[in-house]
Amino acid sequence: MTPYDAHATARTIPTPALTDGFGRKVTYLRVSVTDRCDLRCVYCMAEHMRFLPKAEVLTLEELDRIASMFVSLGVRKLRLTGGEPLVRKGLMTLVESLSRHLRSGALDELTLTTNATRLAEFAPDLARLGVKRVNVSMDTLKPDLFARLTRGGDLARVQAGVEAAGAAGMKVKINAVALARDNAAEIPALIQWAHERDLAITLIETMPMGEIDEDRTDQFVSLGDVRRDLESFWTLRDLPLTTGGPARYVEVLETGGRLGFITPLSHNFCESCNRVRLTCTGTLHSCLGQEDATDLRAVIRAGAADADLARAIAGGIDAKPKGHDFRIARGAAPSVSRHMSTTGG
Ligand code: SAM
Ligand code: SF4
Repeated sequence: MTPYDAHATARTIPTPALTDGFGRKVTYLRVSVTDRCDLRCVYCMAEHMRFLPKAEVLTLEELDRIASMFVSLGVRKLRLTGGEPLVRKGLMTLVESLSRHLRSGALDELTLTTNATRLAEFAPDLARLGVKRVNVSMDTLKPDLFARLTRGGDLARVQAGVEAAGAAGMKVKINAVALARDNAAEIPALIQWAHERDLAITLIETMPMGEIDEDRTDQFVSLGDVRRDLESFWTLRDLPLTTGGPARYVEVLETGGRLGFITPLSHNFCESCNRVRLTCTGTLHSCLGQEDATDLRAVIRAGAADADLARAIAGGIDAKPKGHDFRIARGAAPSVSRHMSTTGG
């Protein structure tokens, strides 16, 4: 039996199977389960988005099949994202099915990035199914600004979701996109809010992905500048922690909490990149910041055996580009035409 024979399990396929052309081991898959969302964050989506027809989106069974194949090939961490994962009908069925890999020991972590508008409703089930950590996006503590940035979101629901996740026993990390005009001055208050609740928080630079209704240049703020500003009143101690991703972590000595910086534009993090992304239409993107793509939906809808699917995945990973080429320039088109909500942030 070859490593890629049909219905091979995690035990029958030797790992690491997924190593790219530059020798980087891929152990982390982000799966966008839908392009839809109940919010319309100004930096993520245009106000009037055209969403994909249902037939183009992978069914729950197809998502399970592809994600499970990645696990068989050596992926140890799965993150469900979107769009908003919790608006996908039947998501808990998928989580339940994928949780078998946690029980078998093939997967270390099954997790989720969410806007938390429906987290209060789903937190107990997620925790029961083995989800130990969730990332929640929340860019401001001001209800009016939150409603404007998300075009209609209710901050109280998000905060209730954060609380419910904690009560269910999950660890919550807050993600906040730094926006020069809107929340840059509020960043210390956001950090304080998170750390008072024993939550880690990560700041993100806006990335040039997909056409939106405004020019991102006006809102771009370098996290290097944010860090310098924070260091004028707090002591930040670098932590040796690395997740193979773009985040760099510090401890804020005064609050005792952890703070991350995701700086794709002012820092290059590609040499240690361990992750790839699957869109809700089954396209494998091995780099967030490049247009490279492998159509896995076409492979499975053509009736491929597991061995063919595994080969297609391995081929997509082998072609993983060396790095991205993000640039934010006034008036320039986005570096990548697809929206973050399509690729899954
Ligand atoms: N809806 C979920 C949420 O908001 O957490 C999951 C999907 S969302 C696309 C994932 C993350 O991407 C969020 O933290 C969001 O703030 C971030 N994001 C979206 N568009 C972005 C952009 N253009 N630049 C940087 N981060 C972005
Ligand atoms: Fe929706 Fe998340 Fe994009 Fe906001 S960032 S519009 S919550 S997908």
